[in-house]
Amino acid sequence: MPLEIVRNDITKMKVDAVVNAANESLLGGGGVDGAIHRAAGAGLLAECRILGGCKTGKAKITGGYNLPAKYVIHTVGPIYDDGKHGEKALLESCYRESLALAKEHNCETVAFPLISSGVYGYPKDQALKVAIDVISDFLLENEMTVYIVIFDKAAYKISEKLFSDIAEYIDDNYVDEHTDYSRECMRMNAPMAPMAPRRARRKKTEVDLSEMCDCKAMLAEDDLDAKLRQIDESFSQMLLRKIDEKGMTDAECYKKANIDRKLFSKIRSDIHYKPSKPTALAFAISLELSLLETEDMLRKAGFALSHSNKFDIIIEYFISKGNYNIFEINEALFAFDQSLLGA
Ligand code: ADP
Repeated sequence: MPLEIVRNDITKMKVDAVVNAANESLLGGGGVDGAIHRAAGAGLLAECRILGGCKTGKAKITGGYNLPAKYVIHTVGPIYDDGKHGEKALLESCYRESLALAKEHNCETVAFPLISSGVYGYPKDQALKVAIDVISDFLLENEMTVYIVIFDKAAYKISEKLFSDIAEYIDDNYVDEHTDYSRECMRMNAPMAPMAPRRARRKKTEVDLSEMCDCKAMLAEDDLDAKLRQIDESFSQMLLRKIDEKGMTDAECYKKANIDRKLFSKIRSDIHYKPSKPTALAFAISLELSLLETEDMLRKAGFALSHSNKFDIIIEYFISKGNYNIFEINEALFAFDQSLLGA
């Protein structure tokens, strides 16, 4: 997945480069900066000393020393005042400059903390949105896997309005389907229908089986061949057809789906490719399919949307609102502890 939100300690990330939320001196500090310097060791500080600091919104690169990462990209986020002092432009610049440096050094994987969202006070939901917007723009033009690393769940916040809208939507839909049958009967004052005894049901199966045996004998091999030839359009065929119908290029489609090029090529070249459910849904979102079309596409991959799990309801929420921004959907999925869309 080109952009992933993960929960981790950034010093543990095995990537080509980790980004450090540094201060202008580049000589270490608290928060993520302190953690990176502690884990990297004295060599990092020695290299930082010769860099001569770094301006807010800019970035500089060093080695990774004792970190699992090969490089550390130091960027200085803005101190948040009231949002009217160019904070957003400076924060965007931090992400852009860091990504440009990573590209210059041929990094294929880069991990960012949520810059400025700690001591520098940038509201976390807005800091996350800036990160996602700039990184996803960059990924439209570049091949790289970028992680946004969230240290602790409490540090992660999507907008309160979105969170409560989704929570309400989950409540409305999830509860309905999960109402226990007996409780429902009690509530409606209706007697419960007796369940068929197990053994009786098994007996019926035996009868069915013997009937089937007769039928089977009658089913000529040719019939089976004919039936198999009527097999439906596959997932991959439907995907390629929809891309054409929407007038998209392949790259537009897989990038909007947050799917990497290699996986897309695999799906393209194998008409029987069976994607995972998050991958199938990522394409449905990228193609901006309606709920009905999404269900259809999922069925081709052997899945369905149900009200029995939060993941499906959150997807349904976004589709019903006409919001097909995969990164916003992933933010919400992450906030509700669900797996993310994409490969
Ligand atoms: P800033 O000064 O830019 O606000 P901070 O280090 O105070 O930088 O915080 C930036 C973000 O990094 C915060 O969201 C904080 O929770 C997070 N953070 C702190 N330590 C780590 C770590 N070891 N790995 C990843 N993120 C971290």
